Amino acid sequence: MAEEKTYFRTGLGLKKAVLPVLEGEYHSNVVDRLRERGYRASAGGLTIQLAEEFGYCYGVDRAVQYAYEARHKFPDRRLFLVGEIIHNPHVNARLRDLGIEFLMPRPAGGFNFSELAPDDVVIIPAFGVTMHDFQALRDIGCLLVDTTCGSVLNVWKRVEGYARDGFTSIIHGKFFHEETKATASQVRRGNGGAYLIVRDSDEARVVCDYILHGGDSKDFLERFGHACSEGFDPDKDLEKVGVANQTTMLASETVKIALGFRTTMIERYGEVAIHEHYRHFDTLCSATQDRQDAVLKMMETPPDIMIVLGGYNSSNTNHLAQICARHTRTYHLEDATCIDPLAGSIAHKIIGSEDIVSESGWLPVGDVEIGLTAGASTPNNKIGDTVERILATRGLSLDEWLGPVVKAD
Ligand code: SF4
Repeated sequence: MAEEKTYFRTGLGLKKAVLPVLEGEYHSNVVDRLRERGYRASAGGLTIQLAEEFGYCYGVDRAVQYAYEARHKFPDRRLFLVGEIIHNPHVNARLRDLGIEFLMPRPAGGFNFSELAPDDVVIIPAFGVTMHDFQALRDIGCLLVDTTCGSVLNVWKRVEGYARDGFTSIIHGKFFHEETKATASQVRRGNGGAYLIVRDSDEARVVCDYILHGGDSKDFLERFGHACSEGFDPDKDLEKVGVANQTTMLASETVKIALGFRTTMIERYGEVAIHEHYRHFDTLCSATQDRQDAVLKMMETPPDIMIVLGGYNSSNTNHLAQICARHTRTYHLEDATCIDPLAGSIAHKIIGSEDIVSESGWLPVGDVEIGLTAGASTPNNKIGDTVERILATRGLSLDEWLGPVVKAD
């Protein structure tokens, strides 16, 4: 008897079977109609402008599809997900409804796979998992459906290359984020290389100062000990650095950080020797870049209010909100239900903090223009629901606002 395949990296060949289900669950006629009208509609004093790039990215689209394929192919087997498939509460809830169990990380970090058996099917999320977790799952013998995004694999390839060539990976990312943890683990694959994670340009500046002027390594490790490889020695491991980034960071900050390290290494070792001490690949994914570029374009003539839709723990959504907040009043909503048309209120996360607040009277009377975008893990149906709730807050119906459905010839 042929041995069962236990590792799937490119889906399970059931796209046609699950596509109608996915369309039914996540598609939005409202979004289609707004697109048909050039991403903008206006009536009754209310204008809504949709960013030209928004919502589901290719990696998320594919990951969700593979999860549905897995359920379809193995209806009777236990199905698990390592963490959240993506950072969207609605999509994660739908997967739970399909009977997919979520294995959440322990407070101290790492996953407990002790309840898994070889018969189980385990889905690896779009962010990927650490090498340690991957190996643990292989050792158990579970059937793995790996949805790690190609753009994440690209970062892994870069940092592995840095390590192989003796460069320490400086990863611009969040040390607690699944993707960055997985990326850091890949550094160890390339000759057991070193890594250091910097969250923002302030942290990067501290590291650059150390490279230029030295300092107390104990103090350095007190600050970065949680975000670097075991045995990290700032006096030795910062002589050759390669910069990479989590795929969903703020593009402008990523550029600034890379430039900061380049300038520092030139100052420290001279322009001629730069290639021996500094490397850089921009590993921001194109979906993140496109969504950030689209809101930047929108902010050239900022709307009165901007709504950014997406999980509160979604890195790319938080960055979209940050960009918009520099230009206009911005609300980051986790879901369309954050807008309560009856109460006239909106619940949102304060940008740059973890606080969720509710605000009433958020939609002013008279002419108002609202911009709308969504993070890479937000399905279109949630964007459509948001539009409908904004309209309902104004007492407008969808048809009177959007006009008749445009029929295809
Ligand atoms: S945000 Fe980028 S890296 Fe992440 S899943 Fe989407 S395309 Fe892939």
